[in-house]
Amino acid sequence: MDAHVHLYDYGYWPEKWFDFVAAKWSAERPGRQPSEIREKIEAGMADPGAVNLLGQMDEVGIDVAVVLALDWEIGMGEPAAVPIEQVHADYEAVASSSNGRVVVFAGLDPRRPNASELMAGLIERGVIRGLKLYPPSGFYPFDERAAPLLELCQSAELPVVFHTGGTIGLLSPRFANPLYIQDVQANFPALTVWLAHAGAQWWWEEAVAVAANGIRTYLELSSWQDVAFHHEERFIAMLDDARRKLGVERLIFGSDHFSGTRVRGTASLQAWYRWWEELPKRADDCGYSFSEAEVDAILGGNASACLGL
Ligand SMILES: [Zn+2]
Repeated sequence: MDAHVHLYDYGYWPEKWFDFVAAKWSAERPGRQPSEIREKIEAGMADPGAVNLLGQMDEVGIDVAVVLALDWEIGMGEPAAVPIEQVHADYEAVASSSNGRVVVFAGLDPRRPNASELMAGLIERGVIRGLKLYPPSGFYPFDERAAPLLELCQSAELPVVFHTGGTIGLLSPRFANPLYIQDVQANFPALTVWLAHAGAQWWWEEAVAVAANGIRTYLELSSWQDVAFHHEERFIAMLDDARRKLGVERLIFGSDHFSGTRVRGTASLQAWYRWWEELPKRADDCGYSFSEAEVDAILGGNASACLGL
C-alpha cells in the first residue's frame, strides 16, 4: 500500500503554478522558452480517471494507494479552473469504482469559508477516509481556523495528514516544521495524525520527536528517496532510530507519486518500493536488522490497520 500519491487532472491547480514552473525550467535550460513547455507540463501530469495510476500500481505490485487531495487556491492567491468541490467529486468517483484500490483523503484549505461544511458533507457520504492539510499554503497546523476541521476528523475517527518539510515554489515551507504539530496533539488528543514526508529533508529529528510524543502520530516516509538511494547506511540508521522511539507500527510507506504520463513514471515508484522490499538485506549489509514482517508492516500493514481497511 502506498499511503501518499497524487492524482491530477486538467485545471485542478491555479494557472500561476504552471507559469512558475515553466519559467523556472526554461531558465535552467537556456534556449527553451517558457511558452514551449508550459502546456506540456499540465498534459504530462494529467491522469483522468486514474487509469495510469492503476496501471502503475499493477506494474509495481501495489494493491492500494491513498490519493491526497491538494487545495492551493488560497495559498497561491488564484482560483483554479476546476472548483475544489469538483476535484473531490472526481476523486470520490475514482475511489468508488476502484474496488477498494484507491482510498481518498480530502484536501481543504481551512481558511475556506465553507471548509467545515464541505468536510462534513464528505464525511457524511462515507467515501473519504481522511483529510490532508497543507500548512505551506499559509497557515500553521495549530491555527484556530483549522480547529473545526480537526474536530470533525477527531469525532469521525479519520486521520489528518499534515504536509511537513520542503514544498513547491510559490508556497511557504516555514509553516511545515513538524514541531508545530505538537500543539495539535495537545489540543486533539484523540486525533490520528500522519506526518507526511516525516519532515523531509530538513526536519527528521523534529518529526521523530513529535511522533514519539503522541500515541496516534505516524511517520509517512515519502520524499526520502534521495537519502535512501545515495546514503543508504545513514537512512537505515535513521529508520532504526525511529523504530526504537515509535515502534515499527507507526512507520508507513509513501511515495508522493504523481501518476501523469510524463511525471517521474513507473520506474521511480518501482525503485522506491523495491528499496523497501529489499530492506532486510540492505540492513543486514550495514549491521542493522529489519525483518520481513517489519517491512510488510511498513509497506502496508500499518496504514491498513490505521484506516481499518
Ligand atoms: Zn504529496
